[in-house]
Amino acid sequence: KVRVRFAPSPTGPLHLGGVRTALYDYLFAKNQGGEFVLRIEDTDTARYVEGAEDYIEEALEWCGIIPDESPKKGGKFAPYRQSERRDIYDRYTEQILKTDYAYIAFDTAEELDAIRAEYEAKGDVFSYNNISRNRLKNSIALSEEEVQKLLDEKTPYVVRFKMPIDRTLGLVDIIRGNFAVNTNTLDDKVLVKNDGMPTYHFANIIDDHEMEISHVIRGEEWLPSLGLHILLYEAMGWEAPQFAHLSLILKPEGKGKLSKRDGDKFGFPVFPLNFTDPVTGNISKGYREEGYLPEAFINMVALLGWSPADDKEILSLDEMTKEFDLNKVHKAGARFSKEKAEWFNHQYIQLKSDEELLQILKSSDLNLTLSDEKLLKVVHLMKERATFPKDIYENGKFFFEAPSSYDEKASKKAWNDETSNLLTEFSVMLSKIEAFTSENIKQNLHDFAENKGVGMGKVMMPLRLALVGELKGPDVPDIVELVGKEESIARINNAIN
Ligand code: GLU
Repeated sequence: KVRVRFAPSPTGPLHLGGVRTALYDYLFAKNQGGEFVLRIEDTDTARYVEGAEDYIEEALEWCGIIPDESPKKGGKFAPYRQSERRDIYDRYTEQILKTDYAYIAFDTAEELDAIRAEYEAKGDVFSYNNISRNRLKNSIALSEEEVQKLLDEKTPYVVRFKMPIDRTLGLVDIIRGNFAVNTNTLDDKVLVKNDGMPTYHFANIIDDHEMEISHVIRGEEWLPSLGLHILLYEAMGWEAPQFAHLSLILKPEGKGKLSKRDGDKFGFPVFPLNFTDPVTGNISKGYREEGYLPEAFINMVALLGWSPADDKEILSLDEMTKEFDLNKVHKAGARFSKEKAEWFNHQYIQLKSDEELLQILKSSDLNLTLSDEKLLKVVHLMKERATFPKDIYENGKFFFEAPSSYDEKASKKAWNDETSNLLTEFSVMLSKIEAFTSENIKQNLHDFAENKGVGMGKVMMPLRLALVGELKGPDVPDIVELVGKEESIARINNAIN
């Protein structure tokens, strides 16, 4: 049975990388008819951020990535919050200490700092490993009596992994293929801290085993830990899941990892978490706040490192689920592009009905002072050029209020000595149109220009300027119809005077 988990630490808002990991976890699980589990890895209390767990569930929900099991939903393997699984970890701590794969170490932070300084003075880097462990304060270097004495005195200790000496591990990654690591390059990682809490490594493999996780799909930053994790499974006598490590998401230039610091320029969190980010300060922007539609956002994220078989670009979550294939996930890093992200949003706006877009606009804090009937027409006329729902309002401001000024360059182009007279006469014509539809208005414009023996532009351009304030927007007859007879005439008069 395929079971995949997303295992974030509640240390801040979800950024692109995290969302992509969650999405691929979900897509793979669902594609295989399996289950998708959300597990909160909150054993590191120093990095814990209040509210981050709720945030993660809410962000995933906004994206449409719904877990089958989670801290809130519960499930067969509850609890799904590591801080509530202490008794399970205690049991396995005892178990691993009985093997030759772990030992207890009494070194204090000060003692370790002193040794580190000693190494650095010689131009070396200190590593707690199979060479240095023999001269440190632990159950390998000390006699049994010394160890017992320290324990009796309640000396604080940590549990460390005893990295085997000079073993070559053959590691397998679904995306990267096979590679080898020699254990001499790895150190004796802490498995249990002196407060009795397991570290990420230990809790992570215990939970993956206990929760019957079949595939671990996670970020590339965990690849260096794979050797240790495989050895931990060996130490516990458990079968390891299969692993797939996702490549980084890169800056648009293609060099360097996309980071939270790139915020405004390249990527936001899904939405801001109400806390002060230690790196960036307060983040007030998020994809949701910018006006990204969740379907567009998730589509964009999915293609950062995966392409479906036929290179199709617009896919719903269901379609992605059907097509997702871990073997087609790219080994190379994926470049993030803001333009591409906006392109996706534009595409999805076009796929929405006018009614749906109206509902989105109405749920925002925009000052929509028109009837729903008129708003629907505004949406219909403006959506074609919109990247975000708010563009419909912002680029269509003239539907809501008369222009307060006229673009100077446009005025020079659109206005000459005859214009005032022409528009005065045309507004008389407008006032006489009974059925005030864009077709009738268009017909009148034609007739008027023909009668006057002038080109259409001579009337159309200044008319547009009078109504909009600049030479932009949809077709003039459509604008005139929607702005209405009286208001159009008022705007023409305003422009003339
Ligand atoms: N808690 C880890 C993280 O925050 C999970 C890594 C993993 O998936 O093994 O990324």
